[in-house]
Order: sequence, then structure tokens, then C-alpha cells
Amino acid sequence: MQVDDWQLQTVSGGRFKVDGGTMFSVVPKPLWSRKVTVDELNRVDQATNCLLIRSSEKNVLVDTGYGSKLSDKQRKLIDAEEGNPLEQSLAEQGVTLEEIDTVILTHLHFDHAGGVTRRNEDGDLELEFSNAEHVIQQGEWDVAHADWPELRNVYSIENFGLLADSSQLRLIEGDVEIAPGIRSLVTGGHTEFHQAIIIEQGYDAFYYLADICPTSWNLPTAWCTGFDLNQLETRRSKRKILEEIADRDAWLLFDHDPELVAVKIAADDRGEFVITERRANF
Ligand SMILES: [Zn+2]
Repeated sequence: MQVDDWQLQTVSGGRFKVDGGTMFSVVPKPLWSRKVTVDELNRVDQATNCLLIRSSEKNVLVDTGYGSKLSDKQRKLIDAEEGNPLEQSLAEQGVTLEEIDTVILTHLHFDHAGGVTRRNEDGDLELEFSNAEHVIQQGEWDVAHADWPELRNVYSIENFGLLADSSQLRLIEGDVEIAPGIRSLVTGGHTEFHQAIIIEQGYDAFYYLADICPTSWNLPTAWCTGFDLNQLETRRSKRKILEEIADRDAWLLFDHDPELVAVKIAADDRGEFVITERRANF
């Protein structure tokens, strides 16, 4: 898909599975199980749709999937792919890791930031994208390093700690233009400083909402995930942004939908949103 001089493509950071109850939080299973199938362990399929944005001068990647460092135990628990799915997916697009100039992270959870680092043959951590600047919200960075007991196990320093001492970290505050036509929108909700990424040039606009609306199943206001730290804020943010997307006839991109990567939406008479156009890939 072309947005003037930017070209957009989804690349896979790896498939995995998540508990169905966690995925839909307060929504009872008799409701969500009409739309979604589960495996024998009550798990729902998830993609990690990362975004590759290419121009003649720059390659920008939004989110990195869970990477290649998961232990066998962790991998089994979420049925994650082996190897390095993102590296493979980028290679299929003819892009090497060294050719990525900018990595934008919507937040620092493992399934978004895990691919920032890898272990080399000696077992040492190194940056996956050796030439890239990494763009992260200052607030998200601070919370991830705060070591609060109530957020234990939410952030793994091995995924992004290396950036702290490098010149490859760019911390931003609030809604900013990261590159021409690519801007951040702090949504809160999922994490306090979770950001959506909006790509716009000319009349076209693409909204990568990340975990504020991770799949098409999460379009209804109340269908938030149990991972959200502040569900009320997720509901408010989601509604407001979905309204904007519908008004602008923009594309909404899903980060975790196993079947759809992009849809267009319209508001219905209850103030909820229906899908009017769908894309399984681009
Ligand atoms: Zn996620």
C-alpha cells in the first residue's frame, strides 16, 4: 500500500497464543466464543503484525514482535514460533536487519519489544538492528525501568536495557512527528504511555493502534483485554480514535489479529463501529 512516498507493508514478528479469558477480560466466554475459536487449553490465536514503512531514503519498523530469545518453557507456554520470525519476514521483503534506520516501539511489553535484542553465539545480548535509532516514549521508558513490585514480570530489561548506554535511543514526549508523515499519539490505557502510530500523507491515513484495539474482535468499546492497566482509559481512547478513523475514512491496522491486518470502519447507530472494508494482507 502506498502513502505518497512511503510504502507500507506488514511483517510478522511471530505467531503465538493467549488465554481467551485474558484476551476479553470482563466479556463472558459465552459471548466471545461465538466469534473466536480456542484450542484445548482455551487459547486464542494471535499474530504480531509489525509495520515496515519504506521510502527511497529510509526504512522504518514499528514494533518488533517477541524476538528470538524466549526460553523453551516460555515458548511452549504461548506456543511461540521458533527461530527469528521477524528477521525471516523482513528477508522475504528483501530488507536486512542492518537496513532498518528507525525502530518505533508502541510500548515495551515483550511481544512488541522482544525483537529489539538477540543473543549472539557467546550468549551475549546485542541489538538486533545495529544501525537503527529506537524511538520510545519517555514515560514508557521510565516506568519500564522503575522496578515497581506491582509491575514485576511486565517488563524485561534484557529486551531494551542495552539501549540505555547507546546513541541509538531517542526518547520522545507526547504526540510528536517522528519522521515526515509519521506521528505518535499517546493513548494511555494499555500502559500509561502506550502510543499509537499514525502514518499520513496527502489524503491517506493509516492508524496503527497497537494494543488499544489489537484485533477486530476488540472493536466494541467494552471488549478490552485483561492486559490493560487502565481499562476505562482504553475504552475512552479507543472510542475517540475509532471515531476519528471513521470520519477520515482512514485505515485501521491491527497488531494482533490473526486474520485481518487492516480494515475501514463506520459508526453504527449505537455509537459502536462496523467493518466496511477488510484486508488480510498488504
Ligand atoms: Zn501486544
